[in-house]
Amino acid sequence: MKRMTGAEIRQSFLDFFVSKDHLIVPSASLVPVGDPTLLLTNAGMNQFKNIFLGLEEPRARRVTDAQKCMRVSGHLNDLEEVGISPYHHTFFEMMGNWSFGDYYKREAIAWAWELVTSAWGMDKALLWATVFEDDQGTLPLDEEALTHWRSETDIARDHILLSGRKDNFWSMGPTGPCGPCSEIHYDRGPEHCNKAGEPGHVCRVNGDCTRYLEIWNLVFIQYNRDADAELRELPAKHIDTGLGLDRVTAISQGVPANYDTDLFMPILRRIQELLGHSDEEAAQNRTSYRIIADHGRSVTFLVGDGVIPGNEGRNYVLRMILRRAARFGRKVGFTEPFLGEVAKAVIEVMGGHYTDLRLRRDFILNVIRQEEERFQRTLGVGLALLDEIMAGLEERGEKTIPGGEAFRLYDTFGFPLDLTKDVGAERGFSVDETGFKAALEEQRARGRAMQQFVSTDGKELEGYVRLLEALKAQGGLGPDGVEYLSRDAAELETVVLAMLRDGQPVTQASEGDQMEVVLAASPFYVESGGQVSDTGTIARYNQGEQDPRWEIQVSEMRQPVPGLIVHVGQVTVGRPQVGDPVWAQVDAERRMDIARNHTATHLLHSELRYILGEHVQQAGSLVTPDRLRFDFTHGVMMTQEELDAVEQSVNDAILASYPLEVTHTSYKEAVAAGAMALFGEKYGDQVRVIRIGDPGEPFSQELCGGTHVYQTGEIGLFRIVSEGSVGAGVRRIEAVTGRTAFQLVQKRLNVLDTAATHLGCPPEEVERAVLRLMGELHDQQKENADLRRGMARLEFEAVLLGVQEVAGVKVLAAQVQAADMETLREMTDWCRTRLGSVVIVLGAVVDGKPNLVAAVTPDLVERGLRAGALIQQVAQVVGGGGGGRPTLAQAGGRDASRLAEALALVPKLVEQIVGPVDG
Ligand SMILES: [Zn+2]
Ligand SMILES: [Zn+2]
Repeated sequence: MKRMTGAEIRQSFLDFFVSKDHLIVPSASLVPVGDPTLLLTNAGMNQFKNIFLGLEEPRARRVTDAQKCMRVSGHLNDLEEVGISPYHHTFFEMMGNWSFGDYYKREAIAWAWELVTSAWGMDKALLWATVFEDDQGTLPLDEEALTHWRSETDIARDHILLSGRKDNFWSMGPTGPCGPCSEIHYDRGPEHCNKAGEPGHVCRVNGDCTRYLEIWNLVFIQYNRDADAELRELPAKHIDTGLGLDRVTAISQGVPANYDTDLFMPILRRIQELLGHSDEEAAQNRTSYRIIADHGRSVTFLVGDGVIPGNEGRNYVLRMILRRAARFGRKVGFTEPFLGEVAKAVIEVMGGHYTDLRLRRDFILNVIRQEEERFQRTLGVGLALLDEIMAGLEERGEKTIPGGEAFRLYDTFGFPLDLTKDVGAERGFSVDETGFKAALEEQRARGRAMQQFVSTDGKELEGYVRLLEALKAQGGLGPDGVEYLSRDAAELETVVLAMLRDGQPVTQASEGDQMEVVLAASPFYVESGGQVSDTGTIARYNQGEQDPRWEIQVSEMRQPVPGLIVHVGQVTVGRPQVGDPVWAQVDAERRMDIARNHTATHLLHSELRYILGEHVQQAGSLVTPDRLRFDFTHGVMMTQEELDAVEQSVNDAILASYPLEVTHTSYKEAVAAGAMALFGEKYGDQVRVIRIGDPGEPFSQELCGGTHVYQTGEIGLFRIVSEGSVGAGVRRIEAVTGRTAFQLVQKRLNVLDTAATHLGCPPEEVERAVLRLMGELHDQQKENADLRRGMARLEFEAVLLGVQEVAGVKVLAAQVQAADMETLREMTDWCRTRLGSVVIVLGAVVDGKPNLVAAVTPDLVERGLRAGALIQQVAQVVGGGGGGRPTLAQAGGRDASRLAEALALVPKLVEQIVGPVDG
């Protein structure tokens, strides 16, 4: 094969399919958009799933792309392979060509062969192909593919192999699109076999050694499997292919492992430089180096797609991989955080094609540094603890780390379970995962709600798909579905196409019914990009009349499938009918409030970047009529000065009344012109750009589909209400604008005026007046406390007069005034200090209940007196109980009226113990 760089191979693949009339589409984000069933994008087809399911129209019938993919199921087994296997990675690139109901097996096979043999010059003698033959005997042999391999290519006949379901039948899930595949394998030669010495080993295609390498899988999506497992031929058949870029690069460059290619070497060399290792030292630590490089790529791309380390879902995957890399780094000699440097190398290698990495470089490095530092602080302690745990188990001859211990490491030291498993496995230990999960569940039950990836119910969507198809077939809707005019108008005249009640189509409805209404066109905005849906009314009017013949109050908007917009609301007047001409009216004041908040969000975003720095990236937003919420990446709490400065400059931009300009352009051009794209958004070829300010030097430019004001002056006023943290490295600002901001200011000023009236001073002096009052109050409180203490002393002196002698023992039993048990104990102390050898029982009524404290000095304890025993008997009289040490005890009771009687008992009890009174 020709020698090419990884970048050249990627480009030549795309160019080749462009020459076959394919459209290049950008890689989808690693965070699947609109698919809650999937944790991370793990195959080229993910972003086309809805097309295969018939829910979405493709942009073109033939497309090609390079797709970022990640495969980390969280199973240690997969991760263990990384770094050891020459060809398996957590992050990899899939090159693909796709036909959506266009060309089929003949072209897919012919072109694949043409690309690898002619364009890339792979040696035909080393190539092998597989064709599906059912090993379960129920599906037909893929004769079509077999024929095309023979007629369209000059592959050696005996290099076409038949293969069964495991390797050569693909399906999306238990139901849905599926079909046979053909794979292309490359024979790397016997020297690449990693099982050469093993008895009985034979190298073969789809075998268990590393000699034959699968480089390309051509999937022929031919059937739909329905709920009763029946396979039905699809009316429109599709092609879905995936070629491993790293593997082909390794073949092209004649190196044994993907890690030896120019896609990895710069990263590995950077690691070596940072460590100052000689080539021998680097070779000795080869596996760790490779793990760090592999994980470094994953971490860089994940953060680049907006994922932040955390304890759930994909956030956890990122944390786990990052911490795993950090630990292997420590193993090879890093003592300081280093992953940021690895990420820099990744960005240098991959940033040419994946330009987002360069745009988000500061953010990526910042997130990685913070997480690594956080982990660094606890890693050493955690590892030492784990060592200790394992040593203890070893002594007892046990090999399972208890789940509770694994959980403690997770909870206290941030050790992902997989890391504990990983470290344990190195020394032959397993982890009690059930125990770990139980401990985790327990903690979750105590507090946090777990974010779950719920699976969507395809059944529910099916109804909408059928409705949309029916409306298109009737001619009620064009090929693009409902005309969506939310950006152009706040009201329009249209017609009711369909109505659903309880999910069932109906032709008419009555007052009070809760309905879903489909119109031919809609001015209502459907929630997206953080902006909430519009509300309003749909009504039919009689000619020349003010009051509607019927009306529906729209409370919610939905777009269950692309092209279908559903208005959810209640019939408030009359009897709506399908086919009625109507006025659809958005609540205009509410929409204006939303627009103010949305435009203010853009101003805020731009000011935060200006004042705090370019590392600030939007990490989420919510735009409602009442307020706006803006989450952004920033490591520390904002100071009051920073908040004031941001608020000030947003208001300056409002006063400047900049015009807003809306343009439509290509994604590439928009980003090249400096427009900000947001994480986790799926952008088409054509994007909408909101530009605020002078077109030559705009104040802000963002890709955005939302509703905005025409001039920033319409926002009126912007006021920050709060700033706080919502997770590692992410802050949240809440703010109000327009009418809400005005109401807030008005309310606050009214409070100030009222306070000024009460204080009898002008509003400007309220603060000074309040401070003066607080000073006076403090002085008074101090004076009061002094007085109370003086009175207590006086009372105490009076109490001391009540001492009596019982059998030569001083006994003091008295009722006193005390605010609480604490004071009562303090008074007991005073008495003891003053009286020397003594038995004291003091009682007080606190909150209507009797409280008692007893003290016996040590000399009298020797004579058999016990404070605990004493108070128990005394407390019985007031219906209570208590206890304590021989020298000090306390008790409570219920009946305060018998406190005096209880205290009178004390001398008698003392007498019983120390003997009768002398004469
Ligand atoms: Zn072999
Ligand atoms: Zn926006």
